[in-house]
Amino acid sequence: MVRRIVIVGGGSAGWLTAGLIAADHQGSSLHVTLIESPDIAPIGVGEGTWPSMRDTLRRIGVSEADFFRECDASFKQGSRFNRWVNGADNDYYFHPFVLPQGYGEVNLPEQWQAQHPNIPFADLVSYQPHLCVNGRAPKQVVTPEFSSVANYGYHLDAGKFGAFLRKHCLEKLGVHYVPDNVVGIASHDNGDIAALQTQTHGALEGELFIDCTGMQSLLLGKHYEVPFISQKHVLYNDSALAVQIPYPDDNYPIASQTSSTAQSAGWIWDIGLPTRRGVGHVYSSAHIGDDQAEAELRRYITATSGPQDIPQPRKLSFNPGYRERFWHRNCVAIGLSAGFIEPLEASALALVEMSAAMVSDELPATRAAMDIVAQRFNEAFSYRWERVIDFLKLHYVLSQRRDSDYWRDNTATVPERLNDLLTLWRHRAPSRNDFNRIEEVFPSASYQYVLYGMGFRSEFMNPQPRQAALADGYFREAAALTHKMLGALPDNRELINHIKRHGLQKI
Ligand SMILES: Cc1cc2nc3c(=O)[nH]c(=O)nc-3n(C[C@H](O)[C@H](O)[C@H](O)COP(=O)(O)OP(=O)(O)OC[C@H]3O[C@@H](n4cnc5c(N)ncnc54)[C@H](O)[C@@H]3O)c2cc1C
Repeated sequence: MVRRIVIVGGGSAGWLTAGLIAADHQGSSLHVTLIESPDIAPIGVGEGTWPSMRDTLRRIGVSEADFFRECDASFKQGSRFNRWVNGADNDYYFHPFVLPQGYGEVNLPEQWQAQHPNIPFADLVSYQPHLCVNGRAPKQVVTPEFSSVANYGYHLDAGKFGAFLRKHCLEKLGVHYVPDNVVGIASHDNGDIAALQTQTHGALEGELFIDCTGMQSLLLGKHYEVPFISQKHVLYNDSALAVQIPYPDDNYPIASQTSSTAQSAGWIWDIGLPTRRGVGHVYSSAHIGDDQAEAELRRYITATSGPQDIPQPRKLSFNPGYRERFWHRNCVAIGLSAGFIEPLEASALALVEMSAAMVSDELPATRAAMDIVAQRFNEAFSYRWERVIDFLKLHYVLSQRRDSDYWRDNTATVPERLNDLLTLWRHRAPSRNDFNRIEEVFPSASYQYVLYGMGFRSEFMNPQPRQAALADGYFREAAALTHKMLGALPDNRELINHIKRHGLQKI
């Protein structure tokens, strides 16, 4: 029987996994232990999330208002990409979280190109870019917690998020916490892990071990030596410089989207929290040196109302890629231990949520069932990592920028599946048929937003005139909703301040 689950690692992955499993199985005989090294700090970045985080937090059982208060959280309504298409000052587009009006009902891209080719696709089919540009929150004071008027995820302080989840896991969910270093692994004869040896708490036995040890990948990578599939030949970024900067004043607007601004050999993320901005330059060390990357970061900060003097940015290095398998014997890796590509589109925590949810949903009752679940898990997540690669690469291959080797090189390495899709999309829009799994990482709507946002145009071979009136109705609906929501939704900072002071109505 699988009764004891031992999680190693107290970063966002470890605590999200512990929270989900413990909440789902509360009251059962399942026992969840989390071991966290007091000597190795969590990575401390990872501040952009998807709308899925609302479901995850609700499932774990926290209060959304407490989350806003304790994690310095703000709303995220999508991403804004600056200078990705041609590098010009006025070059930007949105990838909002709300699906296009009429998505799935009508061929919106075809009618957009026929009727309104000069309006950015997302601006025509969705009200959300307009909410972002106008600094509006995605809900009202009376909207209950975790509910939305406009779909949203969060920006959060990664360090505070871990502490917040830990408190909830220990106080409300009965997770057993062991602050210690794992220094050895004891195995059964068949190769399963029997116990983890800690420095001061002895051996901790279990039936299932979850590796959330970050880039060390202590159990899956180091112990089991499951091969790492590098993606550096496709996605070149392997370094980041991260820094936290203050606002010019306490009432400065909080952006409700992540901004991503393309640079000569990478891009800069800009995430607005209530008390500060988190800004970082992600770049390819093969294309630019650290000094030049830092100079670009500093220039960006001064150009966007940041201070002249900033703390020394923190350097992070990573090898983009993922493991050949994620669940091996009685060990499953979740988080950076399973893989990491780069922060573009913030898919890492979403994959953590999906992984933890699948472990919890499919929790094998016995060792005999575990290999079957493991095989399904590996198949599902290999597919998901491949889709992450395709979707991230889409941003790079469509860029018209040719101002550096980085941008030129990026067009030379296109994964075969993405190439096939681009061939299809020359004459039709991305559709649900291209991504037809139940839980796709990115829906075809996301591909439409990025594809057409990046300046791609399809040559539709068989225009369907009958769709014109239908599409026109949806375009008008999006415009009407924009008007209505701009009139009804509060300022982003105003709502966050209200939530912190007064809380939110429970559902
Ligand atoms: C530059 C950058 C930007 C990012 N931005 C985003 C973003 O915007 N959105 C997003 O979704 N993701 C982002 N990510 C990814 C995100 O940071 C991670 O997915 C997330 O923080 C989860 O990390 P983790 O818990 O797997 O690892 P970590 O935070 O590294 O935690 C590892 C844990 O393992 C413990 N540990 C290690 N060895 C031992 C041992 N021997 N014994 C006991 N404990 C041990 C450590 O103490 C630590 O608690 C970003 C990553 C990078 C590098």
